[in-house]
Amino acid sequence: MIEYNRPSWQCEHCGRIFKRKCNAVQHETVCRHNPDIKKLCYSCKHYDNNGWNTEEIEVWRGNDYEAREIQKNRCEALGLNLYNPFHMGEDLRIALEEESYMAMPTINEGCERYEQYKKH
Ligand SMILES: [Zn+2]
Repeated sequence: MIEYNRPSWQCEHCGRIFKRKCNAVQHETVCRHNPDIKKLCYSCKHYDNNGWNTEEIEVWRGNDYEAREIQKNRCEALGLNLYNPFHMGEDLRIALEEESYMAMPTINEGCERYEQYKKH
């Protein structure tokens, strides 16, 4: 029997184990538990998911508008619609900003109106 004792790397945000360091480094940049990525709003008492209702937004695609379904998240403290910019294309982000949607702050960015009601 051969026992291997290879080094491994663990994501410090979610605990996932990787055999290759490059994969662990890559994963940490997109890990949804990373406080640079994870959005503060989901654990805030001012966050309202509006029953996961959606709204149609017109997105400019370079030569024409395209309708996109957007989840209508809201911040009750700021009175603004919110969007999660993670994995979102630039054109959709611009359309949402024009409709006065605000990008959700990350845990590390913080928010002065934040009031925690549940664990991250
Ligand atoms: Zn992770």
